[in-house]
Amino acid sequence: MSKDTQTTQSSYVQKLLAKLGLHRDFDFALHLPLRYEDHTKMSSLAHALDQQKIQFIAKVIDQQIIQKPKKQLLIRIQDGQEICHLKFFSSYPNLEKLLRVGQVLLFRGEVQFGHYGWNMVHPTVLDKDTPLPTTLTPIYPSTANLSQSYLRKCIFLALTRLSHLPNLPAHLDPHLPKLLDALKLVHYPHSEIEAQRILEKSHPAYHRLVFEELLAEQIVVWQTKLQRLKISAPVIKKIESQSSCLAYLLQTIPFQLTASQQEVFAEIAKDLSNPYQMLRLLQGDVGCGKTIVAALIAALTIDNGLQCVMMVPTEILAHQHLDKLKVWLEPALKLYGKSIAWLIGKQSKKNKTLALEAIHNGEASLVIGTHALLSENVQFSNLGLVIIDEQQRFGVEQRLTLNQLSWSTASGEQMYPHTLMMTATPIPRTLAMCYFADIDISSIRELPPGRQPVTTRLFKTHQRQTLIHLIKDLIVTTRQQVYWVCPLIEESEKLDLVHVNEIYAQMSQALNLSTEVQISVGLLHARLPSEEKNRTMLEFIAGRIDLLVCTTVIEVGVDVPNASIMVIENAERFGLSQLHQLRGRVGRGHQKATCVLLYDLGDKAFLSSPAKQRLQTMLNCHDGFQIAQKDLEIRGPGEILGAKQSGRQTTRFADIRLHPSELTKAQQAAADIIHHDPNLAQQIKELWFGQAHYWKA
Ligand code: ADP
Ligand code: MG
Repeated sequence: MSKDTQTTQSSYVQKLLAKLGLHRDFDFALHLPLRYEDHTKMSSLAHALDQQKIQFIAKVIDQQIIQKPKKQLLIRIQDGQEICHLKFFSSYPNLEKLLRVGQVLLFRGEVQFGHYGWNMVHPTVLDKDTPLPTTLTPIYPSTANLSQSYLRKCIFLALTRLSHLPNLPAHLDPHLPKLLDALKLVHYPHSEIEAQRILEKSHPAYHRLVFEELLAEQIVVWQTKLQRLKISAPVIKKIESQSSCLAYLLQTIPFQLTASQQEVFAEIAKDLSNPYQMLRLLQGDVGCGKTIVAALIAALTIDNGLQCVMMVPTEILAHQHLDKLKVWLEPALKLYGKSIAWLIGKQSKKNKTLALEAIHNGEASLVIGTHALLSENVQFSNLGLVIIDEQQRFGVEQRLTLNQLSWSTASGEQMYPHTLMMTATPIPRTLAMCYFADIDISSIRELPPGRQPVTTRLFKTHQRQTLIHLIKDLIVTTRQQVYWVCPLIEESEKLDLVHVNEIYAQMSQALNLSTEVQISVGLLHARLPSEEKNRTMLEFIAGRIDLLVCTTVIEVGVDVPNASIMVIENAERFGLSQLHQLRGRVGRGHQKATCVLLYDLGDKAFLSSPAKQRLQTMLNCHDGFQIAQKDLEIRGPGEILGAKQSGRQTTRFADIRLHPSELTKAQQAAADIIHHDPNLAQQIKELWFGQAHYWKA
């Protein structure tokens, strides 16, 4: 083989290995077997069972090559008194030579007992003196054209080269096999029992991998957090003045803040008084009143002569926040000669230019907008605070773009804005420890007084007529308003759109048959023109629309207290946190609210188990924190976070549902190592993550 062919071949193999994510020795070491085969024992045909995988030594007693329909090789072998027929669907000279009559060889594969006695298809054929392994043989996940034997060799060599893995100080080391021993054990277990425990992720060697992985991750988490404490941000302090925005807002809000709201406000305000960047998540159930807390924090920022921007995921929500914040803050802002600007995708050019100007020259001290804030060439004068509402709807990159917008103070110092993210999808504690650990969390744990839990009921699709009658009666007698939500899932957007329109037509007709009272039905989905959406929403808020047929555009944030009935079509298609968010749109006023989950079995007799678990959870559970925990149990952290949310992969070995105690230990060890042995911390981090810097926030 010429040198050139060699290099092309090896780069081809490298590509195949790269496909499996295998670059460094440690990557190979972490490429764990899918299953194992036992090649440690020799057997014989006399002791074999039908469909058993065995290896035995036998003598070739006959060889036939048949040409039709394709060239095939048929072999007969003898082991003691037993005969076995072998079949190879392709034949080539080397194989024919190896399987000459009279040869004694080692055969390995699955034997079957059929009409003509024993037979095997494509067994592995080896020299009869091949030494038997003393451990089980790993079978790895692979890719086309990459053989098991090659992969096995690469991994074996990689493990041999990895002799210097970092060791933890004794007092932090859990009672588990050392990392290298653990790796060798998971690749080459000694017995079926051991193999089984590894595959079940319960073997101590597996636990070592889990622990080390979590440790590496926690080290990164801590380091990221320490890094942030070095980023300068403006000190924001309470201004003692009766004419401050904050004082104005506190005097004019039409309700008493809950104790929880006051607590989180104090907590956030304290954080803002530090000279480094705040990165904080405010979580609290749907309807607990996060918006007013955000407004108070915004007022505080504005009082300090700084700008504040609030980014929301939908236009409808942008409008709603704008309307609220205008009432809450505009009179006080006017005293400062400041204004509120807003920026959305669909906006007239003139309005956009005016807004951009006001933001740039600092006249706008509060800016509200959608993703447009990220894509437009928005330049702030002195951005002090970024608020991101419904943060779960944004990807990491989006969340962190605004937070990079720095400016210089008069003395030339670079300042970065503080960041407050808000979500009604609480993050379970273990998940937060892993993926949000570098973010501080504030939680609102109570709802404003007077709220009653939403009654939730299940209906099958074929009970639709009964449901329509019930709803109609309710509208006529109590004048309660209704959301009728249809799923809109990206892949089948067109079909779903037809569905929304159909439901709209159906409801408009059904509700107004033979009624003296006129029932007004509205339609709302993302594809409608901006003005129409806005108009419909205003009509609904004003109570002029009784029933709003809509898609999940209303899923987040929308606040119409008089709407107290919600019907969710195809509830089985929604995720748990989405259902909880949707249900949170009702039960915001003083009436008793109802949520109907309408589900469709399609052509099946039963719902899938996760769908059933989700609906069941919705029936039994009203607390967002409990629902989030349940969601974690049903879906697992990987699916909840995804790369988009977490900005990186979730763990490969650790599953925080199975390994909560390893997580706690790893967290403590990480803090200790960073503090006492930064070199070791660096080694561990590099071992697991290489130079890659994919950790973002
Ligand atoms: P979320 O936390 O889901 O964003 P909102 O901020 O939209 O909730 O608040 C839900 C509703 O509760 C709003 O109508 C708001 O005016 C009202 N609200 C907020 N705080 C209180 C309170 N302390 N007392 C009474 N009503 C409140
Ligand atoms: Mg909200």
